[in-house]
Amino acid sequence: MKNFNPADNIQDLQYFGEFGGVNPSISDSSTYTFLSAKTMFDTFEGNMEGCYLYSRHSSPSNLYLDKALAAMEGTESANVSASGMGAITPTLLQLCDSGDHIVSSRTIYGGTYAFLKNFTPRLGIKTTFVDITKLDIVEAAITSKTKVLYCETVSNPLLEVADIAGLAKIAKKHNLKLVVDNTFSPLSVSPATLGADIVIHSLTKYINGSSDTVGGVTCASQEFINDLKNVNSGASMLLGPTMDSLRSASVMKNLRTLHIRMKQHSHNAMYLAERFEKIGLKTVYPGLKSHPSHELYATMINPEYGFGGMMTLDVGTLAKANALMELMQAKNLGYLAVSLGFYKTLFSAPGTSTSSEIPMEEQIEMGLTDGLIRFSIGLDNDIERTYQMMKECMVELNILTAESISLV
Ligand code: PLP
Repeated sequence: MKNFNPADNIQDLQYFGEFGGVNPSISDSSTYTFLSAKTMFDTFEGNMEGCYLYSRHSSPSNLYLDKALAAMEGTESANVSASGMGAITPTLLQLCDSGDHIVSSRTIYGGTYAFLKNFTPRLGIKTTFVDITKLDIVEAAITSKTKVLYCETVSNPLLEVADIAGLAKIAKKHNLKLVVDNTFSPLSVSPATLGADIVIHSLTKYINGSSDTVGGVTCASQEFINDLKNVNSGASMLLGPTMDSLRSASVMKNLRTLHIRMKQHSHNAMYLAERFEKIGLKTVYPGLKSHPSHELYATMINPEYGFGGMMTLDVGTLAKANALMELMQAKNLGYLAVSLGFYKTLFSAPGTSTSSEIPMEEQIEMGLTDGLIRFSIGLDNDIERTYQMMKECMVELNILTAESISLV
């Protein structure tokens, strides 16, 4: 799609509050009155546009955020949820029945991996995990029972890039739904414009950006969102992972600055990645030419938002990784914390934290090494100063020698 700009799409929506407020009013109600019993019946039947029934189904505040996120992703509709997992799990359960099969990237968020590996088999849904960067391997894993291809645009934590247009072709050929978790790359990548059927986010991360809440969203066709919310058979309606109206109103306000934040996250991460690679550290960042999917990713992004704020450094051993993270925290360069998308840099060793659900032998097979630190680079005003301070920490811990730095 030409001229698709996700931030402009959000900006073009105009909402007013009940009394002409510049922010929409918050609907602080769990239930809604009806002027007639007939209207209530029709609403239960799902054929009363504009009427609210009960806030687990939908609420005005959630619908404002739904609309903005659907506009951002270029889908017909969206449904916000209480967490990212609260979006992922009902979406997959809505798409798959007992006996069905999913082909998933093997490098995905640990919680999603655990859901597919340990939980869905209890319901008769099996998953084959594959190297998502190899389209022939993906296609070979498809069986007559496969219903879903699942991946993350940029994977957690290894920052592998999924060729969404290539995967969409395979999905179409085999009549599958391509579900893409775009949590690491909001605005930078618009998976639905590349052919994804369903786009999911953990709003907990960049989209909310202030690390004060969990939240999620499923962006898809109106038909699929209606299915999720169906009072008789919808996985979101029946499992109940509903976002609270007060929260959706606050996420909505933070969404207003997402474009500015993403540009700064990307700028800072690119700055650090280029320099750390230059001084000889094993650095993975999709914006680096050395990244195996750099060229592909460059064709996938909306360039003004850059290559994102996620970067990994491999410092050799877990002991060194832990010491470095503790020292950087002591020097106030960031926080030793899971999650991402905060104003402050966050770092963690994924093998012992967010990916600890993945068994050790599988971590080794997918290249998730012991000394790997995942960085969510913050909004630092002076990234050169941050870089100098991070280097000093590395010299203090003998991860870098003063000579090796002075050579560059
Ligand atoms: N998807 C990705 C890529 C994630 O990193 C996470 C959480 O870390 C999730 C989904 C789950 O989101 P939440 O913690 O909001 O449930």
